[in-house]
Order: sequence, then C-alpha cells, then structure tokens
Amino acid sequence: MANDQATSDASPSGLATVAAEALSPSLIAEISRIPTPEESTESMAQEQFDADLIVIGSGPGGYHAAIRAAQLGASVICVEREYLGGTCLNWGCIPSKAMIAATERLHHVKHAGDFGVVIEGEIKFDFPKMMAKHKEKVVLAERGGIGMLFKKNKIRHVEGFAKFTDPHTISVDKDGNKQSLRGKKFVLAMGSSVIRLNIPGLENTGREDGVWTSDDAVTAPFVPEKMLVLGGGAVGCEFSFVFNGLGSEVHLLEMMPNLLPVMDTDLGTELGKLLTRQGVKVKTGASLERAERTANGWKCTVKRGTETEEIEVNVILLGVGRKAATEGVGLEEIGVKLHRRGVEIADDTMITHVPHIWAIGDVTGRIQLAHTAMHEGIVAAHNAVQGTQKRINFKAVPNAVYTSPEVASVGLTEGEAKEKGYDVVVGRSKFMIFGKAMATKETDGFVKVVADRKYGELLGVHMLGAHVTDMIHEAVVAINLEATLESLADSIHAHPTMSEAVLEAVEDALGHAIHKL
Ligand code: FAD
Repeated sequence: MANDQATSDASPSGLATVAAEALSPSLIAEISRIPTPEESTESMAQEQFDADLIVIGSGPGGYHAAIRAAQLGASVICVEREYLGGTCLNWGCIPSKAMIAATERLHHVKHAGDFGVVIEGEIKFDFPKMMAKHKEKVVLAERGGIGMLFKKNKIRHVEGFAKFTDPHTISVDKDGNKQSLRGKKFVLAMGSSVIRLNIPGLENTGREDGVWTSDDAVTAPFVPEKMLVLGGGAVGCEFSFVFNGLGSEVHLLEMMPNLLPVMDTDLGTELGKLLTRQGVKVKTGASLERAERTANGWKCTVKRGTETEEIEVNVILLGVGRKAATEGVGLEEIGVKLHRRGVEIADDTMITHVPHIWAIGDVTGRIQLAHTAMHEGIVAAHNAVQGTQKRINFKAVPNAVYTSPEVASVGLTEGEAKEKGYDVVVGRSKFMIFGKAMATKETDGFVKVVADRKYGELLGVHMLGAHVTDMIHEAVVAINLEATLESLADSIHAHPTMSEAVLEAVEDALGHAIHKL
C-alpha cells in the first residue's frame, strides 16, 4: 500500500495533484478548460478551413513561404493587395537594378574608346524608353513568373487587402467586395512601405511637389536637373549613382560621418571618394534642416557641423525611412504583439506570440533585405507545415549595394569584432594589382578580411569593387561553415579573376601576401 502510494505520487497525475494543491480553485478551473493537444487537433480537424496556410503578402518573403509550403504538401492561399512580388520586384531591388544597369551601359558606351572601340556621333539616352522598354519589361516579366510559379504549385492567389476578423479568419477586401477566408495557420509577410520625413517645409508634400520617395524614383517621369538625395545608405547611394550618371547634379546628404553607416567604415569612406570622383556632391555629417519652395523646386538649408549651406534643387529624394505595413490588419486584436518597428516575433523560428501565426521579412522591423525575407519565409513555411522548430542563422547575412563600383559585406565589421573582444587580425588587397581588373579596367576597390588572430576563424569580409555583390558568397559560405584563414588560403582561386583579391587579402591576414611590395 505504501509502495502503491509512492508510485502514484511519482506519476504525472500524482505530480499534478501535488501542484494543484498550490493553485487557486479559479486557476484550476481555467486550466481545466484549456484543451489537450489531442482535443485541439480534433476540433481543428472538424473545423472548415479554406487552406492549411494563408500567406498575407506576396513579396520575396511571402512568395517563398507560399511556394515552399505548397512543396511540402500544404494547401496554400496567398493574399496580395497590390502586385505579385511586393516592394522588391515592383518598387525596390529589381527596378532600381534595371535603372543602374542602364546607367552603367551608358557609361560603358561613353568610355568604349578606352578599349579602342570607336563609337561615332553623340551618345545619347532616351529616359522614357529606358524606363518603359527596359525597367518595366523586367518587372512585368518577373511578376508574370511568380504568377506561373503559383499556378504550378496550385497556390490560390487572392487579390485584396487582408484583415483579421478572428484568429483563424481574414476578410479580404478588393475594391469594396469582401470575402472571408479561414486558415489553419498564417504567415504574415506584409512587408513595409515608404514614409515621408517630418522636415520643416516638406509637410504634406508629394511627388507632384518634387518631393520623391524611392517609389517615385523608380517610376520617375524625368531626370531632374538638380536633386538632393537624403540618406547615404544603400538606397540613397544607388539612386545618387543613377541620377548622377544620367546627368543630374546630385547632392547626397548623410547624417553620419560616413556613407553606408551600417557597414565597415572603410567601405563607406571609399565609396564616398569614388562617388565624389564621379561627380556626386557627397556631404557626410550633414542634415537637411528645412526646405522652402522656389519657382523650380526647393531651396534646402543643409547643416554640416557649425556651417549652414543653401542648395537649390528641382527634386528632393527621400532615401530613408520605411514602416512595417501592420496598419488596419487587426493584428493586436487577435493577440499578435507589435513593437515600435513592426510585428514582434517570439524567437528565431519566426513564430509570433500567437502559436499558429508566423511573421517574416520587413514587417518584423528587423533586417530589411529581400534575401533575408526569402530565407525567413522558407524557414517559417517548414515550421508551419512540418511542425519543426527551424531557426534562422543570422551570422552570415550578406549586405550588398549596387552602385558602380559595388559594395558587399558579410559578418562582423572590424569595429564590431573588436567590440566583441576578439584579438582581430585584418588582411587587405586592392583590385588594381590583378590582371582581370586591369584587363576590364575595373581596378577601383579592395577586399578586407577580418579574422580572429588566435584560431584564424574568418569573422567578416568587406569588399568594394566591380562584381563584388556576386563575389561575396564565397565569404558567406566560409563564415557559415566557420572556415579559417588557412582553409581559405588552401582553396585554389581561378586565374585571372577578381576573386584572386579575396585570396590575397586572406594571405595578407596570414602575413604572407604574394603581391605586396
Ligand atoms: P514586401 O516586398 O514589402 O512585400 C509585402 C507585400 O505585402 C506587398 O506586395 C504588399 O502589397 C502586400 N501587403 C501588405 N499588406 C497587405 C495586406 N494587409 N493584405 C494583402 N497584401 C498586403 N533588398 C535587397 O535585399 N536587395 C536590394 O537590392 C534591395 N533594393 C531595394 C531598393 C529599394 C528602392 C527599396 C525600397 C528596397 C530595396 N530592398 C532591397 C529591400 C527589399 O525590397 C525588401 O527588404 C523586401 O521587399 C522585403 O520583402 P517582404 O516580402 O518582407 O515585403
């Protein structure tokens, strides 16, 4: 009998009895109402759902989540209020790169003589054609491609604005026509949208006033004669490169001491010099104090330290500021927590505080990059469909800027590595000494590697030069696999390539660069 008692107390129900003694009757009653996992699965199975997974938003995060979930066997609906492909395809990565590519072609043709290629007559460009024939064609083709992928994967594309009416139901509004859709699980992929800054003089202004956002820049009706670009991050630098290359007088303003303030300082400093050489008037440590209307645009008061300068331009391009698209979606009403910049996720599995809802990409207000959104979408789809707990590895997220020359980096900056307490060793190499760079006349820029001196672990790689946004992935893989300087130095790099500069920088960190004088 005594033995029986001991066995019973050690059993789960026995433990529950002991624990229950410490609980208040009201709490016990509340707990007893919570269904067991078996009960909830049963009641879910009896409920009618339109899909196993509803993805809200079809940007890079949303469409990757939708396709992977369908590949894993789930029935999937993707709701989109505007165009398939989201910001990235319609107003971000792709149209801006199409504009950059066109600007680069113009530059190459203008400088073809350096290679002995004779082009006679005036070299001109047709901006409306550039936008309609090239940029718009690329966007439309890619948009159609996503539609085809949805069809192939039997994903239902529902047009309209989604709003939660209860934790498993959304109402989708398309031009006033509403339909209700029930999902077993959800992925929030609503992304972000542009915001207008509260600068004195620019209140309640828009595209028609000559105050552009990035959405206006990728649909620009003309090349302004003079423009002020606010923000020296990736977006501001890329548009400065484009409009300067097309003939605008561009003033690029950045509040921090360097362009690209989130990247290794050497990158922003060098890009500042190269953009200046191209003709961009780069002003770092500078802010736009106020703007006043003029007959042809804006008189901008720019403050730089103790000095103030007045700059007259036709267009002000706001290259900073996006906000998560959470408004009107009814998230807080169903228990999804928000923070200042977007949807709060509970952990790196991308789950929110509601157990059947995940959030990915820009809407989480964390890293605002298309490739991160894609990867998060894939991880969230696995977790939602297969019940796994996959987590994102944020150690090796590449960051790329598509100016010419390009900028790319991954891992820790030199400053961050030092702050984290590493005994840091740095290796450098310049493209100018390599045959491929000389042959293509793409000699600007460098590679910088940051490593831990003790074990040689590669911590960060930072590059500026032609094609570096394609070259960075050697470093992404190396950092992901915790490679050492030695293992990279033992990897044969093809000759002649720009990637030889990576090998040389690694050799430099090891103290034996071949091409160092
Ligand atoms: P988004 O792409 O914003 O897509 C969200 C979608 O959800 C949208 O289509 C929206 O219409 C839809 N939606 C929102 N709310 C609802 C709702 N309630 N119901 C239905 N649909 C809804 N990143 C890079 O990695 N590389 C680059 O080169 C790059 N260049 C950029 C250039 C510019 C000019 C800009 C502005 C951004 C750039 N980015 C770049 C950032 C990149 O575009 C974003 O990080 C990326 O688009 C985020 O993807 P997402 O899927 O989270 O959201």
